[in-house]
Amino acid sequence: MIKRGAEYLAGLRDGRIVYIGGERVDDVTVHPGFRNAARSYAAIYDARFNERYRDILVTTEDGDRFATYFLRPKTRSDLERRTRSCQVIAELTYGLMGRSPDFVGGYITGAAMQPEVFDSGAFRFASHVTAFYDHCRRNDVFLSHAVTPPQGTRDKTLYQREAARVPALAVVAEDDAGLTISGTKMLATSAAFSDEIWIGNILPLAAGHESEAVTCVVPPNATGLTLWSRKPYERYAVSAFDNYLSHHFDEGDCIVVCDCVKVPWERVFVHNDIGLSRQIYFRTPAHTLSNHQAGVRYAAKLKLLLGLARRIVKSSGIDGVPAVADDLGHLAALYGMMKAMIQGQIQDFETLGSGYVNYNRHYMYAAVYFATQHYDQICAKVRELSGGSVLQMPADVSVLHNPATRSVFEELWRTPADSAVERFKLYKLAWDLLGTDFAGRHLQYERFYMGPAFVVRAHSHRECPWPEIDDYVGSLLDRIEPGPLLDLGLTDTETKGSP
Ligand SMILES: Cc1cc2nc3c(=O)[nH]c(=O)nc-3n(C[C@H](O)[C@H](O)[C@H](O)COP(=O)(O)OP(=O)(O)OC[C@H]3O[C@@H](n4cnc5c(N)ncnc54)[C@H](O)[C@@H]3O)c2cc1C
Repeated sequence: MIKRGAEYLAGLRDGRIVYIGGERVDDVTVHPGFRNAARSYAAIYDARFNERYRDILVTTEDGDRFATYFLRPKTRSDLERRTRSCQVIAELTYGLMGRSPDFVGGYITGAAMQPEVFDSGAFRFASHVTAFYDHCRRNDVFLSHAVTPPQGTRDKTLYQREAARVPALAVVAEDDAGLTISGTKMLATSAAFSDEIWIGNILPLAAGHESEAVTCVVPPNATGLTLWSRKPYERYAVSAFDNYLSHHFDEGDCIVVCDCVKVPWERVFVHNDIGLSRQIYFRTPAHTLSNHQAGVRYAAKLKLLLGLARRIVKSSGIDGVPAVADDLGHLAALYGMMKAMIQGQIQDFETLGSGYVNYNRHYMYAAVYFATQHYDQICAKVRELSGGSVLQMPADVSVLHNPATRSVFEELWRTPADSAVERFKLYKLAWDLLGTDFAGRHLQYERFYMGPAFVVRAHSHRECPWPEIDDYVGSLLDRIEPGPLLDLGLTDTETKGSP
């Protein structure tokens, strides 16, 4: 089944509870903090019925029609198909909605490509993974995820000293029906807009934290579950004209709070297994499929930044300055690198024993590392090229509503190249991406969406083909043999040194 936007929105009206500070939000589809983001997601669903995108976003297999991000790739062309689908979704949202349905859609699809990994230790949950994957694919489910324990809880002794309850999400009871979970997880982006939340652990858990080693899925309207949102930027956008991006594309970040939430066994994928709760992401293609999407999405955002930079320097009349062209060349090179790293993941794809294929995971982590390390530099460069231009516009769109201010504005703010209104649009858009609350959140997102830099480097270390590299250096060392000193034709003095 392929859902339309209206069906998707109807599904969000399910009684889920979201808090903004002390305010309780009962319907995210109409609340001024969330409604436009909900519509942006709905537009992704509707795009599947648009002739232009339909054949990219929808795949048919064995008579089933489903979103392409649920495709388990068996060939290189399947990988290309998935990439193209991610590209369309990313460009519909200008790379600004990182946790669109294709991100965690990649988790469950990757997990279902090697479900045997979940049959381990005391539990055999492979069939749960496969059945849930079928459910998501059949019902066009939007998954979000919360796989990070809250800060401050990673050292239990701090709490034990005060005999305080550790707020990290953990299993608190178990019976024939399933598990009961309580506690919190950070930082579930898009959870307020999703159909199911994947709860898990991407960070290593220390011994003694077994009860936190649970991977399961829960619906956002589960009894006892609440979502605690950060400030929604959409609510504070002055208007769509002033803050187009904050207004439409704030995907939201929530702390998930569970108070004795019941999880039926069929929705439990890992229980009580510290090692496995983290390994499932790497021993299956889950992490690679989802984070390939992250790279594709990042490239869509760089395209926007690059395009804005070019428009701004043209509008400022500095595009002919060689130093400015050099800066644009720098940004263009970074954009090209990102695109090339995405293609490389397809070119050097991996064949899995199970008959499936996967993107090249070493290159995928390299692309994420590149992304996390360059985003703030790229934004800084675009800000530098913008100078004061982004702050020279009147406060808000009301300048156009007053005939007196409008006529002065239209006369004095225009340039030979652009009308005052065109320049207003351009610079306000740029500031929304570079200088607002929304922009600041994106700086943090791009740095941390896969974890801190040392974690991303650890992934690269794990996936690097060390044997090939060792052999390469080894083959060179093997060629070097001790032998006679070569006759370099040096004089006696030069050989022995001067007295
Ligand atoms: C905007 C945004 C959206 C997010 N969305 C999601 C989501 O959808 N789902 C989800 O599960 N998570 C999400 N996250 C959470 C993200 O996964 C975590 O922020 C990330 O893993 C980093 O963890 P942390 O914030 O607890 O930082 P910490 O791990 O506490 O790190 C903070 C700093 O301390 C340093 N540091 C900590 N430990 C070490 C160490 N051992 N060695 C060296 N340096 C160290 C780090 O380098 C870092 O600079 C999101 C985060 C952000 C900012």
